[in-house]
Amino acid sequence: MCYAIPGNVKSISDNLITIDYFGEERTARNDFYALQVGDYVYAQGGFVVQKIGKKLAEEILDSWKELFFELKETDTRLSKLHHDKTTISKGFLKIISKATYGGSISREEAVRLLLSEDLDELEVLHKSANFIRQKFLGNACCVHGIVEFSNNCMCQCAYCGINRSNINLTRYRLTPKQIRDIVGNAVERFGFKGIVLQSGEDPSYSSKEILNLIKMIMEHYPVFLFLSVGEREDAFYLRAFEAGARAVLFRFETSDDALYAKLHPHSSLKERMRYLKLLKNIGYLIATGSLIGLPQQNVETIIDDFLLAKELGADMYSFGPFIPHPGTPLSGYKAPDVGSILKALSVLRLIDPYGKILVTTALESLYPKAKRQALLCGANSVMLNLTPTNFAALYDIYPSRARGDISLEDQVTEAQLLLRSIGRAPTDLGL
Ligand code: SF4
Repeated sequence: MCYAIPGNVKSISDNLITIDYFGEERTARNDFYALQVGDYVYAQGGFVVQKIGKKLAEEILDSWKELFFELKETDTRLSKLHHDKTTISKGFLKIISKATYGGSISREEAVRLLLSEDLDELEVLHKSANFIRQKFLGNACCVHGIVEFSNNCMCQCAYCGINRSNINLTRYRLTPKQIRDIVGNAVERFGFKGIVLQSGEDPSYSSKEILNLIKMIMEHYPVFLFLSVGEREDAFYLRAFEAGARAVLFRFETSDDALYAKLHPHSSLKERMRYLKLLKNIGYLIATGSLIGLPQQNVETIIDDFLLAKELGADMYSFGPFIPHPGTPLSGYKAPDVGSILKALSVLRLIDPYGKILVTTALESLYPKAKRQALLCGANSVMLNLTPTNFAALYDIYPSRARGDISLEDQVTEAQLLLRSIGRAPTDLGL
């Protein structure tokens, strides 16, 4: 099973194409290929990433046909919205009902949902989030692979174990050749179509080197390329887009100005916002979000984080738990419990029925079965770690990181089994 299903081009309007997947139509942007109606393509994140021959496409589609409908059936069954809870307040149900019909919920309503501790209410909230995900986005689940290519960082984020003040950490930097081999293995052996290149803010990996790396990857591998390399000069992001990168993972970590300043002595929330707006304007797909459970955060500020991410036009949300690292100034604090993160993800799904919601590795690190739970609470995107295990262990942003010691082969098998068991197609069909 590969991580994308080829689709058939039905119509073309400038660089927007309509693609058919077994009778289901999606739209994608085509920036790279000369296409005609009837061609077969792979799309990821709403972009065409590869054109493939008819014979090969039909063989792959043939192998998918039964499974595609079987998965849909399972997902529809698991996401049915029914409950027999009679004790739930009318006010709570009214908010849920508004969201399930596609209405937007207010800040106060979102706060009300996130404040709930009632088990019956929470069950309805999670079921509704899963129902909304299925209704508006179907059963597609993005599976991207992430390469953590350098754990050097010049920043001082107070929650991060690889911040520059941590002198006890062994630092590494993968060479372009190592990165290319990792990407090549993921694409050719396992069929990945979406790759994230991530590092700390490492100026010794020059912008020119990263641009060359993007060009090399785009020349050899048909992938949807994400960048997660932090604050670099504006011209770098313009040139990276020209070189073929189409998405950025760029979190703001908190929308609370004062808290941001405390946690990031090297930067400001204003500057972070400037970057996010710039990146959106360039044309990147934006994945953004914050940490949940930070000291001095409260229910209102978490909802403000969600609303800010939505206002920024996030295409994908990345909200994960704060996990204290012993080598940081926040070592004395506690991580939030898994339930509070699942609840937050469900509320986020009610706030935005259309955005992709990522299950972060941090959530899985709190509780290994959380990936399944999060996918049933509104999430629809996962990342597998492509970094070789000896280096992944050194990408120590928080302790006991899940996936760091599991081979890619095992991660892939596990993800396939999980997605199949809950009726999700491990693919990204576009918009
Ligand atoms: S969170 Fe990112 S930018 Fe901040 S110290 Fe860690 S790697 Fe560096």
